[in-house]
Formats: sequence, C-alpha cells, structure tokens
Amino acid sequence: MSQSVEVTAVNDQPQQAKTNLLGFSASKLGDFFEQIGEKRFRATQIIKWIHQMGEVDLDKMTNLSKDLREKLKGIAEVTLPEVVSCQDSTDGTRKWLIKVDGGSCIEMVYIPERERGTLCVSSQIGCALDCSFCATGKQGFNRDLTAAEIIGQLWIAADSFGQFEHKAPRRVTNVVMMGMGEPLMNFDNVVDAMNIMLEDNAYGLSKRRVTLSTAGVVPALDKLADVSDVSLAISLHAPNDELRNELVPINRKYNLKEFIRSAADYIDRMPDNRRKATVEYTLMDQVNDRVEHATELAELLKDLPCKINLIPFNPFPGSEYKRVSNNQLNRFRDILANEGYTVTVRTTRGDDIAAACGQLAGEVNDRTKRQERYKRKLDEAQPVKIIEG
Ligand code: SAH
Repeated sequence: MSQSVEVTAVNDQPQQAKTNLLGFSASKLGDFFEQIGEKRFRATQIIKWIHQMGEVDLDKMTNLSKDLREKLKGIAEVTLPEVVSCQDSTDGTRKWLIKVDGGSCIEMVYIPERERGTLCVSSQIGCALDCSFCATGKQGFNRDLTAAEIIGQLWIAADSFGQFEHKAPRRVTNVVMMGMGEPLMNFDNVVDAMNIMLEDNAYGLSKRRVTLSTAGVVPALDKLADVSDVSLAISLHAPNDELRNELVPINRKYNLKEFIRSAADYIDRMPDNRRKATVEYTLMDQVNDRVEHATELAELLKDLPCKINLIPFNPFPGSEYKRVSNNQLNRFRDILANEGYTVTVRTTRGDDIAAACGQLAGEVNDRTKRQERYKRKLDEAQPVKIIEG
C-alpha cells in the first residue's frame, strides 16, 4: 500500500484531502486500485457506477464489498462541480454556469440538433491566449480545469437529461472542446477527460464525435496523436501570418505554416484515412472576409485533408468587430466551394442567452489583470458594464 493514499482519518491530525475519483480514466483508476492493494478490475466497476449509472455515493456501489466501500470512503470520494444556474434559449440551446474550486465559474453549452446533441465543454477558467475577437480572452485567465472538472461537465449535462436512467435516450451524442479555454494548454487533464468520454464503460462516445479545437499550440498538437485519436478542429481565422498575428496572438509563436503542418501530421497519423480536420474560420466584417482572403485560404489549405466551417462573428459587449454580411459570407463560401472544399456555415445558436461561439465568459477570478484593463477600456468607451454575470 503506498504512502500517498494510505490515509486514515486520525482524530487530531488534519485530514488529508480525499482523492476525487471522478476524473480518473480507466487506466489511472486501475493504478489507483493497485496502489491501495486492490485488484485493477475494480476500476471498471467504479467507472460504470459513476459514468454510466450516475452514482456518486460510494455507499450505494453495491457490487463492492462493504469493507472495500469503507476503505474507499476513508481516502476517496466522487465530487462534482456545482451548478450555479442553467438557462434555456428559445432555440433549445442550454447554458450552464458552473462553479469550480476557488470560486470562479465556467460556462458550458448544449446545442440540440435534429439528429444529435452537442455539448460544448470548457477546458480552462478563462483563457491565456487573448484572441482579439473572443469574449473568453477578455476575462483573463485563472487556472486549468482538473480532469474531474472537465468530465464533470459531461456528467452534469447527462444527468440533467436523465441519461443515466436506463431507458432515457442519450441526449449528448457529441462533445466539442470549444468552450472556455485552450484545451492544448491543459494537455494531460483534457486527454484524461476525453479518454473517459470515449471509454466503453463510461460514455462510450465515438472518437469521431469528440472534437478537440485548438488555436495552434503546435508542440502540444505534435504530441496529441501519441495519446489520442479524437477529431481535430483548428481555429484559423486568417489566411496569412500578418493578419493572424493580429487576431490570434499565439500565431507569433507558432506560425500558420507550422500549425498546418502539425495538423496535417495529426490527421496523417489517424488509423483510418478518411479523417479530415475541421478548419474554423470566424468571419468578421471587413477584417478577414474579402475575396482575396478566401482565395489565399484555399491555397493555404491545399495539402491539408479538411473541411471548412465558417462562423459568422458573434458580437459581445464591447467587441470591436462586426458580423459579416450575408452577401460576403455567401461569396466567401462559394469561392472555397468552387475550389473543391466542403464548406459549412455554423448557424448562430443561443445568442439570446449569450451562449454562441466566443460569447462564453463565465466569472473568472482573473490572475492576469486583463479583465480589469478591458473593463476600464469599456467604461471609458461607454457607460455600460457587461462582464459580471
Ligand atoms: N481555444 C480553442 C477552443 C475555443 S473554441 C480554439 O481556439 O479553438 C471556440 C471557437 O469559437 C474557436 O474557433 C474560436 O475562435 C471561435 N470564436 C471565438 N470567439 C468568437 C466570436 N466572437 N464569434 C464567433 N466565433 C468565435
């Protein structure tokens, strides 16, 4: 039995924090049981209880012996983040505000469509990347979410739809790591959480239905195929470095050529050769929506197996950009389609509850002072306060 988990609550000793089993993938949970001198297969039992039956009370996990349950209760628990509020949009989109340790709140969104239901999950409290057109960036950054806080979001959504009850239909069919934060800046926790999403004994989602979206953290993307084969989305938003440096500052560190090379390598390493990356391109009026941009983009992507998802810019209070006009959007789409690309346009959902792409702001206890600076800028520009709530 290893020292790190041998914790019995001795009266006058401060009680060591219990291990939260919620965020353990099957292999990590197997390691945990081995460390406490138990059989690895216990991991499967616990994972099923938590992620298939929605049971978080160790006492109710009745296929574990009473002794084992008592032992576990001394050292472990299953703790979920707290739901603060849940709002429904007129179009069926649902947004949750979820409180995590330390007091910050993150946001999560569910988007129902005819044949599927997509959950947009956050990976960090705020975001450090500060893309110029994204509300999350304006909130600054607090910390990475733990694997438990990431998979806890899926648990909360599944629970709210009654998915854990045996006959309830599965409402969350797809997960996109497109909420607050940059998933590849929180590599290990995101990979662990995605593994639980894919795990047959947990949510059993197909790797095609779990998508990681990144703004281009190239060294992390280069490592991703070693540990995962989920679908990949890349947030491009500009067809050349000059413009992308302005919109997506991480481009100054890892430029477009490196990013696209890294994405192509990831796709290349996927076991089935029909996989394509999704290129996300947020269209902003008169910024990146010109004919030349579309032509340049078509050229840039010619060696990347991909489809292109155009996202009309969603405004948020104080944002300096405007939504692309429909004419310009159609023209942009047609140019790419004529070059042979599959192009989709992401319809704006849930904007009446500020749940659309790039509008997720939560309540970030910012460590970067960026939120303060942004608020000050807004106050100077207009007498409206928007960030809280
Ligand atoms: N950091 C990751 C995950 C966030 S995903 C990434 O950048 O990929 C959120 C997606 O919505 C990204 O493609 C992002 O660039 C886009 N987005 C951000 N702000 C937006 C806005 N105001 N309007 C439309 N799309 C936006």
